[in-house]
Amino acid sequence: MNKMNELLKIQHLSKYYYNKNALNDVNLSLEKGKIYGLLGPNGSGKTTLMKIIAGLHKQTSGEVLLNNRPLSYKTKANISYMPTENFFYDSFKVKDIVKFYSDMYEDFQVENAFSTLGKIKVDPEFSISKLSSGLVGKLKVALALSRNVELYMLDEPLNGVDVLSRDVIIDLITRSCGENKVIVVSTHLVSEIEKILDSLIFLKDGTIALAGDAEELRMSRCTSVEGIYKEVFGND
Ligand code: ADP
Repeated sequence: MNKMNELLKIQHLSKYYYNKNALNDVNLSLEKGKIYGLLGPNGSGKTTLMKIIAGLHKQTSGEVLLNNRPLSYKTKANISYMPTENFFYDSFKVKDIVKFYSDMYEDFQVENAFSTLGKIKVDPEFSISKLSSGLVGKLKVALALSRNVELYMLDEPLNGVDVLSRDVIIDLITRSCGENKVIVVSTHLVSEIEKILDSLIFLKDGTIALAGDAEELRMSRCTSVEGIYKEVFGND
């Protein structure tokens, strides 16, 4: 691994919630220019890992370095995290949410956001309460990717979203990848997204069960990412 390309380094990361060990000695290194799939069934620790990196949860032990620096309010500003929950106020219009994002984040690219919303057919005048779950899913991803940062983390962006909207979301993610950026996508819906993943991280009960280059893993195991997922997790 080329050290110059390393954006995120995680060393011996563990997290306990009371007596529940949600993450157990996780070690990872994420390289710029890649899309990572954080894969595992519900309860495997994906959200916990993302929330610690985003600075929303505190780890019990271990270290997270972004560009070789420990997490701080400065490093946090370089991360766009999209939580799995729908966090929009129902009474807002789409354009109000865009304004909220541009007020919140200095790096938010308003024109890009409106242009993306046009492409994915989300009308800025729509009320959030009137949006289908597919439109909400597309809006969340479009907003998270309209920030200009180095690390994007999308927690289950395909969850609760119809098949056609999933394709649009996958396309948005692919188009946002750049040589200085890292995109981490957590999902348990592997078959639909595997074609865009450069690297895979299989998280099982808070432990990295398998990680590596997607193509190499496919070649060495003679199966698709979905096939590897079934090997790692069985019928979980
Ligand atoms: P995933 O995102 O893969 O579904 P999570 O990170 O949400 O996994 O959860 C990992 C484990 O930690 C689960 O067993 C979950 O029940 C537990 N957990 C998550 N958040 C909390 C919390 N706030 N308090 C107690 N246990 C939690």
